[in-house]
Amino acid sequence: AQLDTLDIVVLVVLLLGTVAYFTKGTYWAVQKDPYATSFANGSAGKAGKSRNILEKMDETGKNCVVFYGSQTGTAEDYASRLAKEGSSRFGLKAMTADLEDYEYENLDQFPEDKVAMFVLATYGEGEPTDNAVEFYEFIGGEDVSFSEKSAEETPLSTLQYVAFGLGNNTYEHYNSMVRNVSKYLDRLGAKRIGEAGEGDDGAGTMEEDFLSWKEPMWAALASAMNLEEREAIYEPVFEITEKPDMDASDDTVYLGEPNKNHLEGHSKGPYNAHNPYIAPIAESKEIFTDKTRNCLHMEIDVAGSNLSYTTGDHIAIWPTNAGKEVDRFINILGLTEKRHMVITVKGLDATAKVPFPSPTTYDAVVRYHMEICAPMSRQFVSQLAQFAPNDAIKAEMTKIGEDKDVFSEQIAEKNYNLAQFLEYMSNGEKWEKIPFSIFIEALHKIQPRYYSISSSSLVQKDKISVTAIVESIEKPGAPHVVKGVTTNYLLALKQKQHGDPHPDPHGLDYAITGPRNKYDGIHVPVHVRHSNFKLPSDPAKPIIMVGPGTGVAPFRGFVQERAQQAQNGENVGKTILFFGCRRKSEDFLYADEWKQYADDMGDKFELVTAFSRDGPDKVYVQHRLRERAEEINKLLEQKAYFYVCGDAANMAREVNEILAQIISDQRGVPKQKGEEIVKAMRASNQYQEDVW
Ligand code: FAD
Repeated sequence: AQLDTLDIVVLVVLLLGTVAYFTKGTYWAVQKDPYATSFANGSAGKAGKSRNILEKMDETGKNCVVFYGSQTGTAEDYASRLAKEGSSRFGLKAMTADLEDYEYENLDQFPEDKVAMFVLATYGEGEPTDNAVEFYEFIGGEDVSFSEKSAEETPLSTLQYVAFGLGNNTYEHYNSMVRNVSKYLDRLGAKRIGEAGEGDDGAGTMEEDFLSWKEPMWAALASAMNLEEREAIYEPVFEITEKPDMDASDDTVYLGEPNKNHLEGHSKGPYNAHNPYIAPIAESKEIFTDKTRNCLHMEIDVAGSNLSYTTGDHIAIWPTNAGKEVDRFINILGLTEKRHMVITVKGLDATAKVPFPSPTTYDAVVRYHMEICAPMSRQFVSQLAQFAPNDAIKAEMTKIGEDKDVFSEQIAEKNYNLAQFLEYMSNGEKWEKIPFSIFIEALHKIQPRYYSISSSSLVQKDKISVTAIVESIEKPGAPHVVKGVTTNYLLALKQKQHGDPHPDPHGLDYAITGPRNKYDGIHVPVHVRHSNFKLPSDPAKPIIMVGPGTGVAPFRGFVQERAQQAQNGENVGKTILFFGCRRKSEDFLYADEWKQYADDMGDKFELVTAFSRDGPDKVYVQHRLRERAEEINKLLEQKAYFYVCGDAANMAREVNEILAQIISDQRGVPKQKGEEIVKAMRASNQYQEDVW
């Protein structure tokens, strides 16, 4: 039978719905925009919105599009900054665009008088971010074909573009996204304006790399497009209207709920990166005996939520800002009196989407939506100068904003967050002239933090263990101690659970019962992210684990699982764990549990410890690996899996090198060959990392 038009429409809608469900909800563990599915009104990927970028630019009168490939929001943030700066300094009509929201078959018709910018993060081992996968495959494909000029050798000859990449030099495929995309675009005849910039998170210079890349880029772009630079005039993206007659307790007012479902009172699953589960904390305790530092062990109950995990996955915790920092922020802006007043927030431009529900209150936005404690950026100092309380402060701000060294010395070294910085600059005088819109534009959305699940799903499928060290960073000469947002929030929850009626770690004073008391009874919003950090499917395979400090977290899960398997009578392979910490008596995590696992597994389990401060010499896990070179090599020859978890910057890199050395020494092959073997182990998943 022939299908009529209606049948086809229905089928297509069903098919698209199915694809959308599987790609967004299940397959892609996207940690992008926690509000995207619930609140976005400008996202083109949704039903009824065009996926045609040229049409979108025409409709909205834009001549510049800044595409972003972003995983955690940083690239998206840089994209917004470029769009803003392009319009305020050069009069560009700029918009940002999520790479996954558009199609690229018509890029060959990109008008010559417009410009496309690409801000591209490289993820993991040189991979595109989840939202850039399709674009990357399309543009890099062997037979990339465009709607009109597919036969031409240089179909993109009218496309002028600008590119900046975000990468980390500790990874082998450093900034491969921006490098490859530039290469592909060039091959297709596109014209790059300026250099393709590369920011390096590994060296901690991302921000400065971005700032020093963009000035020559703007100069080149201004000349290519005949743009004239003007004094940057700030134009707000959002209009904030105060509604003194409205009541904040009205149930349509967003008070910090994680999304619209939660706001409307029916927090239903499926729970994922867009929709956290408000989970009860079943148990919490501290596991250091060292009184100057805190390490938390928590059991998060996911029974009945339909959330599932397998050993080696991550749990994401959605934090709340500390009351002390929320107060500081609201106070220095002179908003204290109005903090609970209802406000509406509206995009002033068709492409501007309000990233949280409106109406809301200043307090809710600052407490639950904005990442207010992050370090201050130099560009933001320059941007805020025009709103300084007086000319002297304005001049000082301008100076700091322009000079990398002055900024580094006076601001970055002191670890100021935004409000601490403003307090310092004005000596406490209020900054009442700053439009609130600028914070919605410039500050990140508060990001969920990930934790390697420290339990086995075989042993406790409904309870997820977390092992987290409470961040407290004191720097000599810095006036404030940096207190980690999420881990101190968790510490407050632990204190409350243990009977403290006013938990207040370090005076931070978290609103732990959550918006409208929805987190009361010790709850925390969470979701699970599936990882590739996995035990071999055959329990008889030997495994070698290297996890100093909290890097031991997933390995507690691994060992718990193997101990259970041994108890069940399964044949369990050699299981060696290298663990290191400062002192046996202070921060030896799960010291008693390992004894139990050794009882359960007999000689199949071995714990090798390195205590760096107990003896005359500092001993680390790296040393222990060297001492065990022969055995490690033998196990690897028996196809043992090798795992590393914890500090990415130093430890993981060193372990990688040591392993190559061990292989080279033990097998009598050159060092380079040892390195190649480790590389091949990585490629075949015999070597796995879970590092941060
Ligand atoms: P944040 O507020 O995010 O601060 C983190 C750090 O940023 C500070 O210590 C400081 O160095 C810097 N910083 C923040 N604000 C400023 C400022 N104003 N000026 C200068 N510097 C500043 N952690 C664990 O403890 N256990 C785990 O099992 C674990 N697993 C992880 C797994 C993955 C895959 C990843 C990505 C991370 C994991 N982490 C783990 C780290 C964890 O996600 C968090 O990063 C960590 O707990 C800190 O979060 P926080 O919100 O408390 O600190």
